Amino acid sequence: MNYSKTMSIQDNLLQIKQSLPAQVTLVAVSKTKPVSDLMQAYEAGQRIFGENKIQEMTEKYEQMPKDIEWHMIGHVQTNKVKFMAPFVSLIHGVDSLKLLEEINKQALKNNRIIDCLLQIHIAEEETKFGLNEAELIELLQSETFKNLHNIKVVGLMGMATFTESQSQIRKEFQHLKTIFDTFKIQNSSFKILSMGMSGDYQLAIECGSTMVRIGSSIFGGR
Ligand SMILES: *Cc1c(COP(=O)(O)O)cnc(C)c1O
Repeated sequence: MNYSKTMSIQDNLLQIKQSLPAQVTLVAVSKTKPVSDLMQAYEAGQRIFGENKIQEMTEKYEQMPKDIEWHMIGHVQTNKVKFMAPFVSLIHGVDSLKLLEEINKQALKNNRIIDCLLQIHIAEEETKFGLNEAELIELLQSETFKNLHNIKVVGLMGMATFTESQSQIRKEFQHLKTIFDTFKIQNSSFKILSMGMSGDYQLAIECGSTMVRIGSSIFGGR
């Protein structure tokens, strides 16, 4: 669905929510948008917000009601993990053991267990972050990983290629779903498959997504 300038944030949000199956969770991606916009979504009932910069997310966290779940959806720099460790609910874009170790360390300091998704590279573009399947296996089987008790890997995240080709996007989402299903058998904590944005979330849901990250269709273009 395309956002409309004549429709309010509340209208956009409610329309999208109505179109989502019950098992699919909506992350409202509010990066670059002012707190007043986020509050409109909050007042319409939205409680999960996604941001891609730690500093921006922390500032919004401080200003907004405390029953919000904050999801970090962007690439995470190791040296900034400490700023979000006290409050972040789910980190979507984890793509290295080194980063997991830092999240674990900061979670321990805050006496928390932080939920994480491992980002898998499914797109054709070289620039998108993420692990391939071999790297995923290596990470999950490493002794270091097994000793991280303050993080919990609850699933996978991926981004499809930015293309008009629906068949290409479908192929990439199906690939991620296959990997997810394989690893779910061995990891009982695997529950979340985060895939789908404004332009491709319907396709992602058809391919088995359980969590969609939608920004511009709710808040307008950036
Ligand atoms: C910005 C962003 C989104 C949302 O994109 P829209 O096209 O605005 O819905 C989803 N996922 C990630 C990782 C993003 O950075």
